Amino acid sequence: MRLLLVEDDDRIAGPIMEGLNRYGFAVDHVRSGASALSASTADLVLLDLGLPDMDGIDVCRALRARSTVPIIMITARSEETDRVVGLEVGADDYLSKPFGVRELVARIRAVTRRTHPERHAPLNTGTAATAVPLQSSPHAQLPQERGVQRLGPLTINRRTRGVTINSRPLTLTPKEFDLLAQLASDPGAVHSRQQILDTVWDPNYFGPTRTLDVHVSALRRKLGDPAWIATVRGIGFRLTVPTDSAYA
Ligand code: CA
Repeated sequence: MRLLLVEDDDRIAGPIMEGLNRYGFAVDHVRSGASALSASTADLVLLDLGLPDMDGIDVCRALRARSTVPIIMITARSEETDRVVGLEVGADDYLSKPFGVRELVARIRAVTRRTHPERHAPLNTGTAATAVPLQSSPHAQLPQERGVQRLGPLTINRRTRGVTINSRPLTLTPKEFDLLAQLASDPGAVHSRQQILDTVWDPNYFGPTRTLDVHVSALRRKLGDPAWIATVRGIGFRLTVPTDSAYA
């Protein structure tokens, strides 16, 4: 598994690289947003938000616009808004400095498991085999009907992580897909906030719970009708097919 570390401060990058190497990760290190955007394909990106040439949020957005590569933000900033914006533009998780290498490795494994469950097991396989495809899914040749769930005009393909609405493909971030898949695993049922955070994020997720609301809002927007995801006040969320929507 090859990681791309984007961090301008060598005093932070050095120990991170050493630690990750000990755990068997190959790490490419760049020190600016521009070099992050011109770097070759990685299996996961560790992205410092405070970069000398660009705002890390913009780097995150640009990476996400062209790739589904998992992104973990590394931030020294204490403001919750930066993290929320980062998650909204497509980052999968974040770590606040200072953090230990064991915590970092746990996050990397959790994010990898969530975004690419089929590549779950080995962490030290050849990089070519595990490289994240930037354009097409490796499952493109497989039967499309396997693992496909239909809910009214919505189809969710858990094998390819593809979602369409009225046959129109939706571009979801990894987190948005996981959130939708979780809600769709039992349509109509109320999924509690904690249940969703545990499943879609991490059982040890201690981040702001507003993150969940940000993702729900983004997903509603992309689904084109807020009625898809009902808020059950004080408890959580429920997926329902809108009855009187434009799709009915
Ligand atoms: Ca920095």
